Amino acid sequence: MASRNPKSEAVYSQLFNALRDAGFILSSKQPDIVISIGGDGMLLSAFHKYEHLLDTVRFVGVHTGHLGFYTDYRDFEIDKLVENLKMDRGAKISYPVLRIVLQLKNGDKFTYRALNEATVKRLSKTMVADVMINQVHFEQFRGDGLSVSTPTGSTAYNKSLGGAVLHPTIEALQLAEIASLNNRVYRTLGSSVVVPKKDKIAIIPMHNDRYSLSVDNKTYVYDSIEAVGFYLDNTKINFVATPSHTSFWERVKDAFIGDVDV
Ligand code: NAD
Repeated sequence: MASRNPKSEAVYSQLFNALRDAGFILSSKQPDIVISIGGDGMLLSAFHKYEHLLDTVRFVGVHTGHLGFYTDYRDFEIDKLVENLKMDRGAKISYPVLRIVLQLKNGDKFTYRALNEATVKRLSKTMVADVMINQVHFEQFRGDGLSVSTPTGSTAYNKSLGGAVLHPTIEALQLAEIASLNNRVYRTLGSSVVVPKKDKIAIIPMHNDRYSLSVDNKTYVYDSIEAVGFYLDNTKINFVATPSHTSFWERVKDAFIGDVDV
């Protein structure tokens, strides 16, 4: 899968020809390996296109700009990618995925999976919502909304919200506030919370109103939400384990710090 821009399309053609010449069978219906060409956003789209095959498929990301968080190859490394795929014996690196269950007051249920995060926001006025962690009423939140992210999503929206960066192999969920109201009357923890794999987070909005649920790069609108539950999914996303896999801390440094003179 490639982003719709001339650079990604050129890389797509080059890779397509190189893989075909190397004897790979190219199929978009039942792939064993999905290669996304573009940036992290493109890998998110590839994840959602093939999330029904998560148990069997492995992903590879090729970035047409800087090195991304989900991309191990740059656009000028196509030959190296093809050589590595020729030697591939099925090794994988797996990262946790978020499962979201949204229940409406009429009993209807909708489930989603997120690779980065899901957010709940009220479309008009301040969102007021009870936050439960397992069966504990943790706090009553007032503000713009709440985000729950995966470890790999911790460097995305979660980081902009002041959340912590988690190593992607840590099996945990992170709850982060989006512009909470904190004063003499209203009080929330005010920092992000990292909960372990076995725990469930639930958001219970107080008002019968319209809310948005964002799941990575998609947004859905719902009326009259009873509760939104967040868990770590039983299935993980698998990436092809490549010899050129960049260390997570190098990626964080490259993306957010760069080379500073000290
Ligand atoms: P996009 O592709 O323009 O992505 C936005 C930016 O987020 C890009 O720079 C991308 O490289 C980066 N990004 C995506 N996943 C990342 C990750 N796991 N770690 C570090 N950076 C990452 O836009 P899109 O396709 O709509 O992407 C959706 C993502 O954008 C959401 O999942 C959310 O994490 C992020 N986002 C961030 C903010 C914010 O930081 N204020 C606001 C909304 C959405």
